[in-house]
Amino acid sequence: MKFADFHRRSIEDRDAFWAEQARLIDWKSPPQAICDNSRPPFTRWFAGGTTNLCHNAVDRHLKDRPDQPALIYVSSETGIERTYSFRQLHEEVQKAAAALQSLGVGRGDRVLIYMPMIAEAAFAMLACARIGAIHSVVFGGFASVSLASRIEDATPKVIVSADAGSRGGKVVAYKPLLDEAIRLSSHKPQSVLMMDRGLAPMERAAGRDHDWAEATARHAGAQVPCEWLDATDISYTIYTSGTTGRPKGVQRDVGGYAVALAASMKHIFLGEPGETYFSTSDIGWVVGHSYIIYGPLIAGMATIMYEGLPIRPDAGIWWSLVEKYKVTGMFSAPTAVRVLKKQDPAFLRKYDLSSLKALFLAGEPLDEPTARWISEGLGVPIIDNYWQTESGWPILTIANGVERKPSKFGSPGVPMYGYDVKLVHESTGEELRAPNEKGVVVIEGPTPPGFMQTVWGDDERYVKTYWQTIPGKRLYSTFDWGIRDEDGYYYILGRTDDVINVAGHRLGTREIEESISSHPNVAEVAVVGVADQLKGQVAMAFAVARDTTGLADAAGRMKLEGEIMKLVDEQLGAVARPARVHFVNLLPKTRSGKLLRRAIQAVAEGRDPGDLTTIEDPSTLQQIKELVGGK
Ligand code: AMP
Repeated sequence: MKFADFHRRSIEDRDAFWAEQARLIDWKSPPQAICDNSRPPFTRWFAGGTTNLCHNAVDRHLKDRPDQPALIYVSSETGIERTYSFRQLHEEVQKAAAALQSLGVGRGDRVLIYMPMIAEAAFAMLACARIGAIHSVVFGGFASVSLASRIEDATPKVIVSADAGSRGGKVVAYKPLLDEAIRLSSHKPQSVLMMDRGLAPMERAAGRDHDWAEATARHAGAQVPCEWLDATDISYTIYTSGTTGRPKGVQRDVGGYAVALAASMKHIFLGEPGETYFSTSDIGWVVGHSYIIYGPLIAGMATIMYEGLPIRPDAGIWWSLVEKYKVTGMFSAPTAVRVLKKQDPAFLRKYDLSSLKALFLAGEPLDEPTARWISEGLGVPIIDNYWQTESGWPILTIANGVERKPSKFGSPGVPMYGYDVKLVHESTGEELRAPNEKGVVVIEGPTPPGFMQTVWGDDERYVKTYWQTIPGKRLYSTFDWGIRDEDGYYYILGRTDDVINVAGHRLGTREIEESISSHPNVAEVAVVGVADQLKGQVAMAFAVARDTTGLADAAGRMKLEGEIMKLVDEQLGAVARPARVHFVNLLPKTRSGKLLRRAIQAVAEGRDPGDLTTIEDPSTLQQIKELVGGK
């Protein structure tokens, strides 16, 4: 079938198209309506239908493939490697579900999961889905202040965590960060369920903290039936950064998400039951939710969950797993490939990679040299795909499962079925129909299945943030710049807002600024994203100190810079740590006091800052130029 026809039908004959896709999953009772868009921009999918994500990911496969691998857990940090069949996964998930129930967790309750990449994290997520609890997974790399704001917003009844994560052989204790986060949050969970990996000592709060191993062992052999949920019930929230310092809880449904994932595994990710999928992301990100846990399992595939670095014990570790488990589909981020590209290319030839059908890359722009290197090294198609936490699955890519089409270097591809993607002029809102014009990438509603339902607990914020930024039109803004060529392929040109993308991780510069400002000697700070060869972008801070006495020499500046970095590490986590903190006398501002972020960013990247007629004091930019000039 021609993809253009497939796409057109998904927009013009929406109900018929999605009713067909809905047959890819199991329903307890069928949907009564397909797309209900009576209250835009809130779209309800498959209302009246009842289903369950855990049923579709696990129980559904017990009949045909009980002994087939479902979850393959590999940690190059601890050396643990273990395969769970669908039957064993079913048992583990039921034990976890029973343990949660015994802590009083039921339908609609929130469970916050702050865990490293261990199999128990997958059990916890699926257990929540099973009993209708709403999980909120927080990336293990975040620290106490980031975690506290998420606890505050999600108000979880229970938090599931572990003693520690491990990265490159370095143990990162989670419990002290979690205890501090609970202390900072005005909401307190009733219970905390701790998985003890034996990596770091833990203090236990009597009455509140429980042991995962004990709690689940008590429910060995438990049978916990799936709670049949309405398709429009909430499955999970996942927090993401935006323009303000306060992260947004992206809220997703049950039925629409299950259908969207099942359809994407077939049409985009070429996944067949019985095959093995390997996504190198982390459960703390949306890719981890969609393409480590739910997507592959719903498709009846085995999924590899990997804890560790791509280059440890050596740069062949991922390829050795491809060979060993006959991986057919692999999903990673361009930064990881850039890391591998710096290693000995012989690692790519050391293993039998003939099972691999394609490598999917997403999360940040894919540059041509990286794409070419890996494409030549693997000899399989490299499929770039563009999407966001908000969408849950690709917005732009090539759906080779529908029609084989060439990819173009630098372009993630064309709008996916279900997505009515447009480019509009930033200030007039006018649609840009001619090719090669730069505009904001927007989506015309109704949004497809799997797309966020709203911002958790704040419908107004959802509407205001996403649907009211294009003048005169109700369109969803992706906050990305893009252009479209004559063949309809899109190219993403960076964010329109203050979100930066470090190694595929989305960070809000305002959150980092707030953290830096909490240092007693910082009067003011601006954080911008600066292009970086390896990570795509890094955060760079320009701070004005209150007391400059110690800053005359390099040693004094380094000391304060070190203190600020440590503060960000403790509050937000090392992912958010700026690459540099430069000290300036004043920040570049307009005469009305507005920070000139884009000019700062341009100068920090060695570019021309453009029109500066509104600047209060041009010497401020000159100082930044001199500070970064050396690099
Ligand atoms: P996140 O919500 O963390 O997945 O980040 C989403 C943002 O990452 C998008 O809005 C883009 O700015 C960027 N992004 C994701 N995938 C791609 C891609 N394939 N090409 C270019 N930018 C991307």
